[in-house]
Amino acid sequence: MAEINSKDLPEFEKDGFVCPHCHHQSQQHWGSINEPITHYFVDNFGIASCNRCHEKSIWAEKKMVYPLESSAPLPHEDIPSEIKPLFEQARKVLIFFSTCFMCIVKISN
Ligand SMILES: [Zn+2]
Repeated sequence: MAEINSKDLPEFEKDGFVCPHCHHQSQQHWGSINEPITHYFVDNFGIASCNRCHEKSIWAEKKMVYPLESSAPLPHEDIPSEIKPLFEQARKVLIFFSTCFMCIVKISN
């Protein structure tokens, strides 16, 4: 698996980063919505489109809100194909476990 440098990490309005969909370093094209969403105003809202796979990532308050990106490592390239889907599911569940963990910590204080 290729090592990811901090300069490759997704960041709001960055010209290029490792795409959360295709996992390749690629140029990102940014767009924004300048109209208020219902009666709420969302600061620093943007949509980035990957130049390689053309999938979109959605950002609010300078944070990626879609797709949800796990902090867990990507599966190793030699991982057996029958295990890879389960590994990917586990990466996604980690997002919710960490959120649940923080909720439990806040409630307990
Ligand atoms: Zn992509």
